[in-house]
Amino acid sequence: MISVAEAHKIIDDQITRLARERVSINDIEGRVLAAEIIASFPQPRFDNSAMDGFAVRASDTKGASKKRPIDLKMVGVVSAGSAGDVVVGTGQCAQCMTGAPIPQGADAIVIVEDSSGYESGPEVQMYTEVQEGQHIRREGEEIQLGDLLINDGTCITTAELGTIATFGYKDIQVYRKPKLALFATGDELVEPGNNLLPGQIYNSNLYLFEDLASRAGAEVVLKNVIKDDQDALKTFLADAFGTCDMVISSGGVSMGRFDYVRDVFMELGVKEHFWKVAQKPGRPLFFGSNSTALIFGLPGNPVSAFIGFMEYVWPVLESMTGQSRASTISAVLDESFPLDAVKTRYLFGNTWSEDGQLICAPSKKVGSHMLSSSLEANCIIVADPGDIPLTKGAQIRVRLLPWKSIK
Ligand code: AMP
Ligand code: MG
Repeated sequence: MISVAEAHKIIDDQITRLARERVSINDIEGRVLAAEIIASFPQPRFDNSAMDGFAVRASDTKGASKKRPIDLKMVGVVSAGSAGDVVVGTGQCAQCMTGAPIPQGADAIVIVEDSSGYESGPEVQMYTEVQEGQHIRREGEEIQLGDLLINDGTCITTAELGTIATFGYKDIQVYRKPKLALFATGDELVEPGNNLLPGQIYNSNLYLFEDLASRAGAEVVLKNVIKDDQDALKTFLADAFGTCDMVISSGGVSMGRFDYVRDVFMELGVKEHFWKVAQKPGRPLFFGSNSTALIFGLPGNPVSAFIGFMEYVWPVLESMTGQSRASTISAVLDESFPLDAVKTRYLFGNTWSEDGQLICAPSKKVGSHMLSSSLEANCIIVADPGDIPLTKGAQIRVRLLPWKSIK
C-alpha cells in the first residue's frame, strides 16, 4: 500500500498533454486555451469620446459657465462607427457621441447636459469649461499592441470570451477535450426510474462521474452500468480502449469475490501502477495505463467514488488540458477531527468565513456509503496521517469544490 503523495507522483508521471485544435469563438466556453491571447491592436484602438456631447478645443471653453455661456459653431456630427473625418477649428464644435472618434483639431468633450443641446442650430452654447483630454478615452490607455492578455492554459469563461471577442479573434486554439469512458459495476445496481427488488440499490456513481467529468471539461463518449461479469466488462472495455483517453470505473475493484474489474484490466493488458492507497475512505484505488489510456478503478462506495474522482481524476484532467491545479487551502476546525495513524483521511466539509478566518466543519456523517454528507459540503477535508486527534481550533487543509462558494 502506497501513500497518497506517492500515488499522486505515480499518476503525474503518466500524464501527457492533449493535442490542440481550432474552435470557433461560438463554441469555446469552458474550453482551455492552448495559446496565448495577444492584443492585435491597442485598446482603445483610437481616441474616442467617453460621453455623448460636443467635441471642442478646450481652450475655447475657458471661463464658460451657465451664466456666461460661450458660443461655438457646430461644424458636423460624429457618431459611433463613423470614420470621424470632421475637423474642428478654433471657435468650432462637432456633435460627438460615446465611442465616436475624436475629430481632428478637438481635444476635449463637453457633455450634452452642459450645452444648449443638439438642436441648438448653427451656434451651440457651452455652459462649462473643460480641460484638455476631458472625456476622451486615449488610444492604448488600457492595452498596448502586443500585450499578453490571457495565458495559455486558462479555462475560457465569461471574461475571457469577452476579451477574445474584443480583439476580433474568431478561431481559437484550445486543447482537445479529454475523452472518457465511464462505467459502474454491480449486480445490485438499478437505474433511477425503475422499481427496486430486494437487495437492489440505485446507481448513483455514474451520475456523479458524468457531472464531474463535464465540469472538468471532459467529454463522456461511453458510459454504462455493467454486471459483475467478466465478459460484460471485456466487451465494454474493448470499445473504451479504442476510443478514450481515460477509463474510469466505480466498484468491483476491492476484495469481494465478484470484484473482477482489476483482473479484467490486467487480462486486457493494462499495466498496473498501483492498486491500494493508504487513505480512508477509498483505499482500494486502482491506477493503470495502456498505450492510449489512463485507467482509474475507483471504489464503489459513493463517497469514496466522489472523493476519489476529485482527488485523483480531476487534477489529471486539468493537467491533460494544460491547466494549473488549485491547491488546498488552510482552514480552522470548528470541531475535533479524528486522524488516522497511517492513512490520509478525507471527509466532506463545509467552510465559511468568520472574522477574516476560514472555518471548517467536517460532515457528521463519516461513512463512505453516506453520500448525503456531500449535500451541505463545499470542500473536501484532506487530513494527513497523525497520531493525535485534531481539536477544535486546529488548522486543517481543505480542497474547495470549484463549483461551490464560501458563504
Ligand atoms: P464495491 O466497490 O463494488 O464493493 O461496492 C462497494 C459499495 O458501493 C457497495 O455497497 C455497492 O453496492 C456500492 N456501489 C457500488 N457501485 C455503486 C453505484 N454505481 N452507485 C451506488 N452505489 C454503488
Ligand atoms: Mg460491487
